[in-house]
Amino acid sequence: MNYNKKTVYDVDLKGKKVLLRCDFNVPQDKETGAITSDKRIVAAIPTIKYLLEQGAAVIACSHLGKPKGEWKTKLTLAPVAKRLSELLGQEVIFAADIIGEDAQAKAAALQPGQIMLLENLRFDIREEKNGADFAKALADMAEIFVSDAFGTVHRAHASTAGVAAYLPAYSGLLVDKELSIMGKALDDPKRPFVAVLGGAKVSDKINVINNLLEKADTIIIGGGMAYTFKKAQGYEIGQSLLEADRLDYAKDMIAKAEAKGVKFLLPVDNLCAAEFSADAEPVLVEGNIPENLMGMDIGPKTSQLFAEAVKGAGTIVWNGPMGVFEFDKFAGGTKAMAQALAESGAVTIVGGGDSASAVEKLGFASKITHISTGGGASLEFLEGKELPGVACLLDK
Ligand code: AMP
Repeated sequence: MNYNKKTVYDVDLKGKKVLLRCDFNVPQDKETGAITSDKRIVAAIPTIKYLLEQGAAVIACSHLGKPKGEWKTKLTLAPVAKRLSELLGQEVIFAADIIGEDAQAKAAALQPGQIMLLENLRFDIREEKNGADFAKALADMAEIFVSDAFGTVHRAHASTAGVAAYLPAYSGLLVDKELSIMGKALDDPKRPFVAVLGGAKVSDKINVINNLLEKADTIIIGGGMAYTFKKAQGYEIGQSLLEADRLDYAKDMIAKAEAKGVKFLLPVDNLCAAEFSADAEPVLVEGNIPENLMGMDIGPKTSQLFAEAVKGAGTIVWNGPMGVFEFDKFAGGTKAMAQALAESGAVTIVGGGDSASAVEKLGFASKITHISTGGGASLEFLEGKELPGVACLLDK
């Protein structure tokens, strides 16, 4: 997979109409529909400002929620247009449709330095189905396509990949940052390269482990997925998460790591509980976990072992929490890992989703080199998969 893609800096934007795919999939209050975090809108500002300053006319578009091809007024992008306008300090013209008469008329009249926003792309079923006519209609409004929604580049949708069949396609500043930092980490990492994987399920991360076994010097496994590996090593794991159908795979991976000389670290102690609850009493267990208990977090010895293993690393990639960090009593291992990354001096990359929110919630975000904005997308990136929304961009 080539991550070296042309960016907005590589094209003359003056007087051009630019179709800009943004990630305005903001969280909303269920009752009022009010935007509860404008982080994603704020993140889009640098690319938008650059395009406008260069004299482009910007036709922004995004999805919001999961309307699945239905016109759901609750999921209109109108509140996003309003917030975007406040943040930019200029009018954001809002289209009443996506590729309909209103959008087309407004796009045709759009002047350099002006910005408009189309209505929620997923109100039309052809967006997620990558309908060629829908992609062409989007593309026909513009002369250049800029992709800046990293969270959706693993999807081959009309606005993320389809439009690139009709327009020259460039990355925006957000996508470029993801590609250059994560791409480099995977292609040419500063060594030692340590991968830290956690979260609930082995099955979700099999392809990540397969890919990283070829690249990393050390693989650290924590979280619920660690117990299937412990069981594969012959330990008792009590009521802990187990994927019995992955035991052979886990055995193979441990053997493969050994054969390749990749260090493969698993928890040596665990904070356990008799029930999956925030109020459960933590019990520290080393070795075999008794029949009535389940592993909820890595223990202090493991935290220390893992912290030692990331010390002196050149590059660290982390995806998935070390325990049930949503419960305060079982957030210690995840917190210790976040701190170890923050203090490592390495290039540190935290994959999206739960580990990203853990790092933010625990206050270590500013000490991490890069926190990916795409949960599913960054996981597929770590799997080494070809991402349709990246593959379609022009090579440098
Ligand atoms: P993932 O989406 O695969 O990264 O998994 C994240 C989820 O894994 C979080 O909601 C955690 O609460 C959960 N998790 C982490 N460790 C454990 C564990 N030991 N037992 C059960 N769930 C866990």
